[in-house]
Amino acid sequence: MKSKISNQFFRNYLIVFLLSILTAVFVYLLSGFANDVISKTLVKNIYPASLLMKDDYTDIDTEPVVQNGGGVQVINDKHEVVFSEGLDTLGTKKLTVGEFTDFLVRSKEKGHQYSYDILYNPQGKFWLVITFPTSIRLDISFVYNKEAASKDIKNVSGAFIAIFILYLLMLGIFAVIFSRISSVSITKPLKMLLDGTKRLREGDYSARVNLNLKNEFADLQDTFNDMAQKIETETALREQTELERKRMIMDISHDLKNPLASVVGYTELCLQKSEESDKNLCDYLQIILKNSKRASHLLNGLFEFAKLESADYSIKLLKIDICECLRQTCADLLPILEKENFEYNFNIPEKSIYIMVDIVQMNRVLYNLTDNLIRYNPEGTNLTVSLYEEQDNAVILFKDNGIGIPSDIAKNIFDPFIRVDDSRNSQTGGTGLGLSIAYKIIKRHGGNMDIQTDLNEGCTFIITLPKV
Ligand code: ADP
Repeated sequence: MKSKISNQFFRNYLIVFLLSILTAVFVYLLSGFANDVISKTLVKNIYPASLLMKDDYTDIDTEPVVQNGGGVQVINDKHEVVFSEGLDTLGTKKLTVGEFTDFLVRSKEKGHQYSYDILYNPQGKFWLVITFPTSIRLDISFVYNKEAASKDIKNVSGAFIAIFILYLLMLGIFAVIFSRISSVSITKPLKMLLDGTKRLREGDYSARVNLNLKNEFADLQDTFNDMAQKIETETALREQTELERKRMIMDISHDLKNPLASVVGYTELCLQKSEESDKNLCDYLQIILKNSKRASHLLNGLFEFAKLESADYSIKLLKIDICECLRQTCADLLPILEKENFEYNFNIPEKSIYIMVDIVQMNRVLYNLTDNLIRYNPEGTNLTVSLYEEQDNAVILFKDNGIGIPSDIAKNIFDPFIRVDDSRNSQTGGTGLGLSIAYKIIKRHGGNMDIQTDLNEGCTFIITLPKV
């Protein structure tokens, strides 16, 4: 790939260089043409000495020269300035032979501020000097004379060809150097990006690219890094989910194994000891019933949980007054709380707060919380249910002053199958799914569920639901 890009650059540079030669030749020709056009329009060429010359210098029409900023001087054969009109660069009335010769020589030189046209009139024996300030000078010309010596032409064309070959050689060298330099600025970041992509392909999702550039490659680098970051996060999440799934299957099989083994065992026992007394049979049947109920409870919980996890399952949201709804649910909980000798307190405002809610699912959350309260806390524990508004949300507090949950367990309490160790015994019949189901239901409502608790500090469940 590297050589391909540098070759491409080499070809491009050669084309650019050749085009620049063509442009230079074109500009040269154009300048020659411009030279001709411009010189024809210059005043010094419109009023040359040859045009103005008269045998009697007093007849010379000096007006157009003077009007165009020029000057006319007449110098006789004794080098005296016998006539002067307009611009005078001689600055004297009489010149020595040396000064006059010097003036003639200087007048032919290029590069000074004035252009001179000097013509001798043999009839009148005087020099006519026409002076104009130089406006612009373009001296671009290509001269070819057929009569020139053939040796000269050979030498000149030889030198010309040598210069041209040298020029082409330099072009080639520059094209190679430039193509290398500019291709590196492309191939280097490309190679780094390619290396990063290969690492990704080989499963190294921590691969990131740092090009230290600010051009389009930097955008590509950011996109690559974002993509790698996403893949890394999603892969980690997938691995985590997979781990959780495995753990869930292990927990289910473990929790189902014991009650079902017990069901099988006691059923077999009932069959073997069918002649045993009714009392014993009754005890065995009690155990079978209890374990069957536990297995079925666990399966129901799992089913509910799986249902809430599935994307196809939708809850039926209705706009309801949560104050009214909560009052109703609390009234339904009253007999249960009283039967179990729990104390209670309800702080529900006498107004309407509307939220979108699936009433069946919301009641399920509150029943799960009440069920836990009664199962894990001693008689006399107090429950306070409060409702209030906070910004755009309705907040329900479900607070008890019971045994609480150790904070290290509480931080994951909404994950499935998380239980406090003591409660993992078969006495409580817990599945570790109740709170995760409640949490999922609230999340499905676009709300949030949190817990504040510690051992012997009681539990406060905070449910936040968006108002409408
Ligand atoms: P489980 O089926 O075990 O009740 P949950 O998800 O409903 O599953 O509860 C998880 C654990 O949280 C329970 O095992 C229990 O130890 C603890 N817990 C839940 N609510 C309370 C509460 N109000 N007071 C004390 N502990 C609680």
